Amino acid sequence: TQQQFDVAVIGAGAAGMMCAAVAGQRGRRVVLIDHAAKLAEKIRISGGGRCNFTNVGAGPQNYLSQNPHFCRSALSRYTPQDFIALVKRHRIAFHEKHKGQLFCDDSSEDIIAMLKAECDAGNVAWRMPCAVEAIGKNGELFRIDTAAGEILASSVVIATGGLSIPKIGATDFAYRVARQFDLKLVATNPGLVPLTFDGRHWEPFAELAGLALPVAVETGQKKERGHFLEDLLFTHRGLSGPAILQISSYWKLSTPLTLNLVPELDVAETLIEGKGTLKKNLGNLLAQWLPGRLAEGWLKVNGVDAGARIADMPDKSLRRLGDSLNRWVILPSGSEGYRKAEVTLGGVDTRELSQQTMMATKAPGLHFIGEAVDVTGWLGGYNFQWAWASGVAAGLAV
Ligand code: FAD
Repeated sequence: TQQQFDVAVIGAGAAGMMCAAVAGQRGRRVVLIDHAAKLAEKIRISGGGRCNFTNVGAGPQNYLSQNPHFCRSALSRYTPQDFIALVKRHRIAFHEKHKGQLFCDDSSEDIIAMLKAECDAGNVAWRMPCAVEAIGKNGELFRIDTAAGEILASSVVIATGGLSIPKIGATDFAYRVARQFDLKLVATNPGLVPLTFDGRHWEPFAELAGLALPVAVETGQKKERGHFLEDLLFTHRGLSGPAILQISSYWKLSTPLTLNLVPELDVAETLIEGKGTLKKNLGNLLAQWLPGRLAEGWLKVNGVDAGARIADMPDKSLRRLGDSLNRWVILPSGSEGYRKAEVTLGGVDTRELSQQTMMATKAPGLHFIGEAVDVTGWLGGYNFQWAWASGVAAGLAV
């Protein structure tokens, strides 16, 4: 069987549903194709099941890309306030959690149902579950070979996302299509992912697993520098928590991270100046500024007796101890990979795409949106905002 549409959107995730709804509501005949059996699994599991659907302050500064200005156009034409208005129109209850992050009160299912309803309002046709076998051209039209027959369309939108969480259906489809149409790719890497350390070096810290504390973390230099003030979590294999997920997107193999475990205090100065007045022993002093278990573990790893009195210690030893807390320089050996990564860094090179329409300049009619593109947001609702905004940009153009 052969069916013809104006627009075929491949991938019914965040970006694909948004794009299909917008195009459909403009009166375009749209088909939305996805190989998954269950709709929008990634939205469902996002934000711990409550979907951190946007961030009120989202702007180009919150995204990584080889071409940092590319995302500006779509983000400014469809803002967090636009998405919030949509959520309100659907009477979905939500709240702000932390640093502008908005979550559903009840469940991420509310967002999925909203997008589904918006697609219905645009009379979007569904092919799901339906595998896509190949894409080609039939004269001016695109031809998509699917398990449900051949589909012809004047525009095709690729919204199949990145490589993270293969278990729920992530594929490299977008990159394969890009290559087929001779578009450049930016090397992909897991982003927003826990970092791991060499077993032998990590051993003394492994017993701190489960411990969390606010830290400052940084890595890289100049334009590529990342810096965050967030919570750190010790795990059996390494480090996680928002601080590490954030910095992981900036981290490069063989480069260290610098962590400040007591960001609001110069520990060395405080200890040296307090030699005459601070009466507690070192273990009790550090426990005022750090979780007790960490204070104890830290002194052990540094070979310092927790019962020592600072008045009896040379300034040099106090300086070394204080600096080790304010500037802990560590070299991750790797990450937990795509299995655990929330996003994929890199993807379709934005220099191949129009920032207004997300269309490939070399392949008229072919658009790429969402995570498949080399635009990656920070943790905190930024990735969904990019999915919505790039989806709308393409939806208005097809
Ligand atoms: P996706 O939503 O991944 O959709 C891609 C769709 O394409 C899927 O439905 C898939 O089945 C389909 N597909 C893939 N390959 C094919 C193929 N070959 N043929 C047909 N269909 C195909 N971001 C936030 O902003 N806030 C959060 O709270 C948040 N939490 C997250 C939690 C987790 C555990 C994870 C993994 C990610 C989280 N993210 C979050 C990131 C966010 O989910 C993604 O950035 C976003 O879903 C990307 O949207 P997308 O539409 O580009 O891709």
